[in-house]
Amino acid sequence: MYIVQIASECAPVIKAGGLGDVVYGLSRELESRGHTVELILPKYDCMRYDHIWGLHDAYRDLYVPWYGHAVHCSVYCGWVHGRLCFFIEPHNDTGWFNRGAYYGCDDDAMRFAFFSKAALEFLLKSNKRPDILHCHDWQTGLVPVMLYEMYKYYGLESQRVMFTIHNFKHQGFAGSDILHATGLNREEYYFSYDKLQDNFNPFSLNFMKGGILYSNHVNTVSPHHAWEARYGDCSFGLGHTLSLVEDRFSGILNGIDYDVWNPEKDDYIPYPFGLSTFEDKILNKKALRDRLLLQQCDKPLIAFIGRLDDQKGMHLVHHAMYYALEQGAQFVLLGSATDRRTNDWFWHEKRFLNDNPDCHLELSFNEELAHLIYAGADMILVPSNFEPCGLTQMIGLRYGTVPIVRGVGGLVNTVFDWDYDQNRPPEERNGFVFYQTDNVALESAMNRALGFYNNALDGFKQLALQGMQYDFSWKSSADEYLKVYEYIRHK
Ligand code: ADP
Repeated sequence: MYIVQIASECAPVIKAGGLGDVVYGLSRELESRGHTVELILPKYDCMRYDHIWGLHDAYRDLYVPWYGHAVHCSVYCGWVHGRLCFFIEPHNDTGWFNRGAYYGCDDDAMRFAFFSKAALEFLLKSNKRPDILHCHDWQTGLVPVMLYEMYKYYGLESQRVMFTIHNFKHQGFAGSDILHATGLNREEYYFSYDKLQDNFNPFSLNFMKGGILYSNHVNTVSPHHAWEARYGDCSFGLGHTLSLVEDRFSGILNGIDYDVWNPEKDDYIPYPFGLSTFEDKILNKKALRDRLLLQQCDKPLIAFIGRLDDQKGMHLVHHAMYYALEQGAQFVLLGSATDRRTNDWFWHEKRFLNDNPDCHLELSFNEELAHLIYAGADMILVPSNFEPCGLTQMIGLRYGTVPIVRGVGGLVNTVFDWDYDQNRPPEERNGFVFYQTDNVALESAMNRALGFYNNALDGFKQLALQGMQYDFSWKSSADEYLKVYEYIRHK
């Protein structure tokens, strides 16, 4: 099959969170099974160019219709750790992808609407006719809309679209200017409840809603989150829209790339280890402490890695930090804030805890350090308010780092409580789960984990080893994606 992934991220070259990991990991797995996979991405100024091989211009003069004129673009081509990627660079005054950041600009809707249009235009003009266009998140929600309303008539008539929602919180809103810019026009047609009009704001178009309604199949990234989105309150207002497409909506659990996340051959950790050499994990703990200037001692070490965003349960992360210290544990946090208020808050905490020998806050995005933390920590905390899938608990499991998680979304599908899970025998349990969003619930799960570590270290190690044996690779997830691709391709 010939599959083109259209996305705003691809790890490690463009990564703000799990989306990047997923786009890369899934593509690699599909290719390893003999499918042809290409990726179309924006050419950001701030991406990691050191992870691209052989970057060269592949299509020099791509003219993308925009507001009745055309924007001149170049398309560059290069290999990101073996994946063939096309990077679109518009040559216009606004420098859409030259902002030093991937997201967070006032004109994000315009930037990614343009990217979506340019991706289709590139496919059309370069005579690429993939079987499947796999689009990710709101940034590419207009791809299926423009495909079925316009590009189908220009020559892309047999392409089928899979739309994957990695996060319902960000949906992409815009006014009628987007319709004029993209050439969709027809305000009265698109501003209707069964088309792109937002379900709650009649003056706004919703990109994600467009992606849902116009794609051949829609999925989110875990079965439990699919259920929560469809029947619970996790879809940020799109529940009714999902009910309209329920025969083509599903949840497919993300995988992680075990070539990137493998403690046995991870270049970023000083002491590789595996199931049979688990004792070496402690050497990484020592190295992590040295690197972060923490004291060497017998204390357990709890880590948090993730975006500092309300989604991740910031008040619980904050509480966990102080509670861990109070209970005689060490705490390491690696995260970058998505808004100013949280950024100021955690910078304040960082300064306050600066001289504490048991705590370190690293407020940046640091892929290399993340690997060392996964390898060195004893426990990883994921107290999210909602979590479509969550990768940090799966990576933690792979590195023998026991997850303490809130039972929501993909965390329900991947972490099974040591004490209470009724559906798994003890030898298949792998972590600690709590459900409520209050401090007491968190404390109770932390107490169980810390108590186990302090009073029965051998039992705790056994739990870590059980976690390491879980297979959350892309194998079974890619099977499911392929089944859907095959189905929609022949429909
Ligand atoms: P989300 O996609 O909501 O951000 P996920 O758990 O799905 O969360 O994926 C997070 C990914 O981003 C993981 O690979 C994690 O290691 C990585 N990550 C998050 N924050 C940082 C950071 N500050 N530095 C390095 N890696 C990070």
